Amino acid sequence: MTPHDGNFTLLVVDDDKQSRLLLTELFNGEYRIIQAKNGVQALERARTHEPDLVLLDVLMPEMDGMAVIRELKRDDATRHIPVIFITALDAAADEERGLDLGAVDYISKPFHPSIARVRVRNHLHIVHQRRLLERIAALDGLTGIPNRRRFDEALAQEWSRCRRSGQPLSLIIADVDHFKEYNDTLGHAAGDRVLQEVAAVMYHGARRPGDLAARYGGEEFVLLLPETDAQAAQQLAHELLQRLQARKLPHPASTVSPCVTISLGGTSAIPAGKEVDPAFFRQADAALYQAKAGGRNQVRWAAA
Ligand code: GH3
Ligand code: MG
Ligand code: MG
Repeated sequence: MTPHDGNFTLLVVDDDKQSRLLLTELFNGEYRIIQAKNGVQALERARTHEPDLVLLDVLMPEMDGMAVIRELKRDDATRHIPVIFITALDAAADEERGLDLGAVDYISKPFHPSIARVRVRNHLHIVHQRRLLERIAALDGLTGIPNRRRFDEALAQEWSRCRRSGQPLSLIIADVDHFKEYNDTLGHAAGDRVLQEVAAVMYHGARRPGDLAARYGGEEFVLLLPETDAQAAQQLAHELLQRLQARKLPHPASTVSPCVTISLGGTSAIPAGKEVDPAFFRQADAALYQAKAGGRNQVRWAAA
């Protein structure tokens, strides 16, 4: 997505219809435009439409632009949206106050359309860059699948979601068998490629929208499965085991199999309590330990 492909949405807030029209015309070809004619409507539309940028008039009856930006910055859902004031107030003190409240820019009326356009484009460019960085920060560098940070976030989200809906949440932890020996025998670079293969198997195991596969760390991977009961999750764990076997990656130093294998532990629960219960992960980890102790290359499930 670039700032020129029409995927960005601007919220234009002005009590004056002429001004709203002018701004809408100025940006219409480039972005999707939503309008609000007062402060209350602006807050409501900012929350429901999640615009990428707000063009905000200052002087409006009842709730003025300064009050609007204060509310936007107070709310977690809208705090990150950049706000540009477009206003007839041109005193330095007004501009300072606006920027002080968290506006990214301040454009005085009358303005040069071409300059307003470039300023908006520049701020949207920053929005785009920030999103890219956020996306990169959630991914594991070696395998390209989500990292532990992203998993922790998803676990918290899915925990509350399943708690509210009363649905089961399942978790699978997979760990490569005798991976230290693999590295020692075939080298670290070959080990890295194995991790990419295992990551791909886990990634393809995440089939439903809420499912999340992640590299938890080292040679350990997780698969989070919302609204999935123990039976379905165990079946999926067995499929992961088989799908890695089918890739037939030679592991000359393994005592378990001539090929690379994984051990998997899992657990399922209907979440209770607002915070993620640490026992949830612990149980899956204990089941993984059982799988290792039981001879590796197998699935074990925590007792309900
Ligand atoms: P087990 O079957 O009990 O799981 O034994 P293991 O050898 O797989 O487990 P151990 O925890 O002893 O060793 C894990 C190895 O994983 C050691 C570490 O060097 C390797 N490892 C961790 N991260 C990476 C990585 O990013 N790339 C490579 N190539 N190796 C890694
Ligand atoms: Mg291991
Ligand atoms: Mg390990």
